[in-house]
Amino acid sequence: MKVRDNIENLAPYVPGKPVEELERELGISEIIKLASNENPLGPSPKAVVAAREAAGRVNLYPDGSGHELVLALSERHGVAPEQIVLGNGSNDVLEVCARTFVAPGDEVVFSQYGFVVYRLVSQAIGATKVEVPAREDLSHDLDAIAAAVTDRTRVVFLANPNNPTGTMFSAREWENFLGKVGDDVLIVVDEAYAEYVNDPDYPDHWQALAAGRNVLITRTFSKIFGIAGLRVGYGVTSPENANYMNRVRQPFNTNLVAQAAARAALGDTEFVRHSREVNARGIHYLRAHLEKRSLKVTPSWGNFVMVDMGRPAMPVYEGLLRRGVIVRPMGGYGFPNSLRISVGTTEDLHHLTKALDAVILNGEGA
Ligand SMILES: *Cc1c(COP(=O)(O)O)cnc(C)c1O
Repeated sequence: MKVRDNIENLAPYVPGKPVEELERELGISEIIKLASNENPLGPSPKAVVAAREAAGRVNLYPDGSGHELVLALSERHGVAPEQIVLGNGSNDVLEVCARTFVAPGDEVVFSQYGFVVYRLVSQAIGATKVEVPAREDLSHDLDAIAAAVTDRTRVVFLANPNNPTGTMFSAREWENFLGKVGDDVLIVVDEAYAEYVNDPDYPDHWQALAAGRNVLITRTFSKIFGIAGLRVGYGVTSPENANYMNRVRQPFNTNLVAQAAARAALGDTEFVRHSREVNARGIHYLRAHLEKRSLKVTPSWGNFVMVDMGRPAMPVYEGLLRRGVIVRPMGGYGFPNSLRISVGTTEDLHHLTKALDAVILNGEGA
């Protein structure tokens, strides 16, 4: 059957290699996955308790409005419940956003190395993708992005911090950007890693929303809260935007177990604090180790780093796989020499650095 060109040419999302798959291939069981920016400490323990309890009720449909979770989020962020859109991961929120606000032929603007999902959801609906060259340090060029906005632009996707680069844009850049882009354009700020950021220059995107700007902020339970496998994310925007998005989304797009677990995870402040601390230490250790090997690391505000191996990275990736470590090759993003490595526990990172040294010493990929 013939499909439209935008579907024919759609390259599927390439996820990190699952642990089970490598186990099957290698016949070993001690595998470390540092490929999908998951929480290396496991799920929030409170979320696990809640999920177990909820599992006994899955004969029932979930609350399609996610009432309890929405209330908890509205309290957390000081916004009205009517401003919140839940999603099957924030991926879902991004897709619902595109389907709600963008028609085929409309323009969607994002940065060259912006999160790949912006490209995918835009192409799937037949939008015109406007990809704005990144700055030399791989970060979003907000001036150039603002300049790329035309009267056909409906949505701008920004990630702060961005994945896979880990880069952040500052409060000053954000304020300048807001001064240049009108409210006929929806500015999406993907805050998947916001909970990890500890930088006084990080913008308060929520202030723009409170001031009535046309902004959608997305967040996820997949990263610091540690429940990626349950798929919960959310968006916060104007009540009007949220109302449209809630009409477009599937009626039961977050499931019953996920809603309960997310609500519990949100209240697990100790787990979040500890995760943040482990991550800060891990980033520091990882960056220092890689730089000692004269590898170029892009400074990261997330829970991962992108590292330039100075040679084709695929053989290094494969050498690491043989040693039971899964990282993420970056060829699909236009960085054939780079790997993205998620921050693991101290133990994971020791294992990784040992394996990496062995691969490099062994001349694999040299
Ligand atoms: C991981 C990630 C997400 C979250 O995806 P989920 O669908 O919520 O699991 C969103 N945006 C960025 C930039 C990410 O890296």
